[in-house]
Amino acid sequence: MPEMPEVEGLAAFLRGRTMGRTLTGVEVGAVSALKTYSPAPSALVGAQVSDVLRRGKWLDIATAGADGELHLLFHLARAGWLRWYDTVPKAALRPGRSPIALRVRLDDGAGFDLTEAGTRKRLAVHVVARADDVPAVATLGPEPLGLGLDEFRALLAPRKQQVKGLLRDQSVIAGIGNAYSDEILHVARMSPFALTSTLDEESARRLHTAMLEVLGAAIGQASGKPAAELKDAKRRSMRVHGRTGEPCPVCGDTVREVSFADSSLQYCPTCQTGGRILADRRMSKLLR
Ligand SMILES: [Zn+2]
Repeated sequence: MPEMPEVEGLAAFLRGRTMGRTLTGVEVGAVSALKTYSPAPSALVGAQVSDVLRRGKWLDIATAGADGELHLLFHLARAGWLRWYDTVPKAALRPGRSPIALRVRLDDGAGFDLTEAGTRKRLAVHVVARADDVPAVATLGPEPLGLGLDEFRALLAPRKQQVKGLLRDQSVIAGIGNAYSDEILHVARMSPFALTSTLDEESARRLHTAMLEVLGAAIGQASGKPAAELKDAKRRSMRVHGRTGEPCPVCGDTVREVSFADSSLQYCPTCQTGGRILADRRMSKLLR
């Protein structure tokens, strides 16, 4: 799933290629991806791209046209991606079957598809007058890189939550998902199951520093990369995320995996849990 650094990279990429261009076609391939029906996607045709912004893990293409300001907002979810074309295929998109959820055409012949692999379709596209008309955007928490230590501690303290869950909670901090939260916790040498309310000052500082370090480096890596390269660059840069069974790059211990929420997380026992192997809580609940 693309997270803040990749979406930031995509936003910069799209800004460079779409600013000032007029949309000449918006075709829907997967009706399930379209979460709004009024205004219709066709209302964007003839509008000019005025800005491309990232909001958490959302991409916001702002346009100005006959109907005033309109935003094409999308969230790529777990298996979604953006495929850029310098020349978009001429044939109209046919709904169903293909992994293409949406196709956007521009007046210079370029454009892009939003694609989604797999059977669980979660890619979300909204066409709205204001970005905040999308509830998940309106309720986004602050951006992580702008958070000072005191503000960060103020977000942690009142919550009795596992730190892994807090980092991924978009209403607390915007933009961090499963991959970068694993990486941040590894750099912070912290158990993903540590409770936020019990973190002492030193731990909170370590976590804050790790968050800035990991995301700052990832944004640096993603910037200037074409859309097609962002996913591989992310995968290559991971220390523990997606590396179950491989050696930890810091201590050489074997990276482990445990279920968390609707997916799984990876961590290094030596670096993060004092050597303890975390039990799969979902499973033990089932067996009880
Ligand atoms: Zn380690």
